[in-house]
Amino acid sequence: MNALSLHGAVALVTGAAGGIGQAICAALRAADARVVGADLDAGRECVPCDVTDREQLEALITRTASEHGGLDVVIHAAGITRDAILWKLADEDWSAVMRVNLDAAFLLLRAAAPHLRNSSRGSVVLISSINGERGKLGQSNYAASKAGLIGLAKSAAQDLGRDGARVNVVAPGFIDTAMTQSLPTEIRQRAIAETVLGRAGRPEDVAGAVVFLCSGLAQHITGQVLRVDGGQLMA
Ligand code: NAD
Repeated sequence: MNALSLHGAVALVTGAAGGIGQAICAALRAADARVVGADLDAGRECVPCDVTDREQLEALITRTASEHGGLDVVIHAAGITRDAILWKLADEDWSAVMRVNLDAAFLLLRAAAPHLRNSSRGSVVLISSINGERGKLGQSNYAASKAGLIGLAKSAAQDLGRDGARVNVVAPGFIDTAMTQSLPTEIRQRAIAETVLGRAGRPEDVAGAVVFLCSGLAQHITGQVLRVDGGQLMA
């Protein structure tokens, strides 16, 4: 059996219509998992779900687990930015980012916990960012939400670890997706110049790390942050 195989595992991915979310769904399917992708944008093989709406999220988890006979893998890739310099950052831009990026991860984990505790291979991956570790000009809301995911994951890893379920974080650097394509060329070039590999990451680079962390190869890895950033942040 392929060591990366997720044969028979049931996986739920938020942000599944996005660049990274789509690649994660494809990679999990390639590893033979049964994947339910959820996104605001319900096209492209996704079921509709606003992750900031607790009732929608809980209903999705209940439905997924009952239709597929359990839930083994949970990935939170939904995320937004609302960048502004600190003194111009509006209350609603702080809250909107926290709700999608961080609060939804908590709601997701809490609702999925009974299923993960029942699974023999429960695994969660939260998609953070290197900017959650180092901070970033004009991103105090985004960086705080992404740093929050790391604390959430390390605590949830302890809560769920007694039942054998694992919780890890993937922290991407600059990845070529819709989220970054709208950035000015100069900022994109600066980010690429920060990497030691001299290129932007691809969504598939992030997806590979996610599949690894959910697989049997990573069965003794929990509470960790794995950067997928081409060496953009080394500290
Ligand atoms: P993206 O904009 O292509 O995808 C994000 C997806 O999240 C979109 O499909 C969007 O519809 C969905 N989403 C937003 N709000 C939602 C909500 N309320 N309910 C359900 N879905 C919602 O961006 P991406 O680059 O694929 O980002 C994926 C994740 O990776 C995000 O968490 C992002 O912060 C993180 N990340 C991206 C980069 C990068 O350089 N692209 C770097 C570090 C971290």
